[in-house]
Amino acid sequence: MKIMDLSRITCDRPRTIFLEFSWARCSCLILLLTLAPLVEAKAATTVDRVLYEQGFLQVVSPDRATAEQARALAKKVLAAWKFDLSVMHWANLNEMQKLLTLRLVSDARMNEGHHGRAYSLANGTFVVRMSLIGDPSIDLTFAHELGHIQAYRAFRGRAVPHYFIEGHGLMMNVLYADQLRQDRRAAGAAQGRVMMALTPEEVRTILTDEEKSKREPNMEVAGLFFVEYLRVRKNIPDAVPRMGRVFELVGRGRTYEQAFGQTYGLSLKRTVSEIINYLKRTKAYPAERIKGTRFEEYLPSKTASTSRDGGGAEDQ
Ligand SMILES: [Zn+2]
Repeated sequence: MKIMDLSRITCDRPRTIFLEFSWARCSCLILLLTLAPLVEAKAATTVDRVLYEQGFLQVVSPDRATAEQARALAKKVLAAWKFDLSVMHWANLNEMQKLLTLRLVSDARMNEGHHGRAYSLANGTFVVRMSLIGDPSIDLTFAHELGHIQAYRAFRGRAVPHYFIEGHGLMMNVLYADQLRQDRRAAGAAQGRVMMALTPEEVRTILTDEEKSKREPNMEVAGLFFVEYLRVRKNIPDAVPRMGRVFELVGRGRTYEQAFGQTYGLSLKRTVSEIINYLKRTKAYPAERIKGTRFEEYLPSKTASTSRDGGGAEDQ
């Protein structure tokens, strides 16, 4: 397999509170296709074996994954894939059904590239570390990475902010956990605490400065907060599926700002400044930020009603 690169859209950073809830941590990358001879030369030294094929999905590995593991994982991938499709209602299903490759790699190989749990490539390959096989969290990792691949196919590699892409990816984790009835209280509480600890300054950077945004440690959770803000505070119950319309409009040539405005009937600039003001106003009462959102249920009311210092998340 040739891997050409590589312009990262995200998120595989070592410092985060999600280390202990690592399934919820976004450890994915979307790597765009441009020539990168170095990476290509390195990738050419490994040979992927095709372990299993089913329709548009293939499972490959350069390491010691077995055909039996591949068959079992393919079932999970297809289930997560269908779930993501059912949430997003993509307009162009044919475009979605292009070749999809699950690449299982050893932890040593993942660690060599300083990757986290998983990452996605623009060519429809998503790479997952083998130690996740057998871990229930792998289902949610699939939903997250496949969400990125579907979104990428819809926006065709054009410019969409990192926070919006990751907000969508993390929302796939949340919704798929609900669907599978997986207990996500620990991860949900951790995310709620990050939301309560977000500063207006960092969120301004995340929402307005693409270059700096990807280096902000709370970018993914800020993206999740952004979606919840639309859903709950702006009273848009279908805020998540509408993200799909934003991706599609960008794929058809609109700017993100235009696509956002057309889809949500809101000015992006006004929404961003409203969110920043909201964070300023709730600085002393951060529990207010998650009130009415799905993250409220994950936090015991005592924790949620503490002050910013008591409810902060950075050191937990
Ligand atoms: Zn991600």
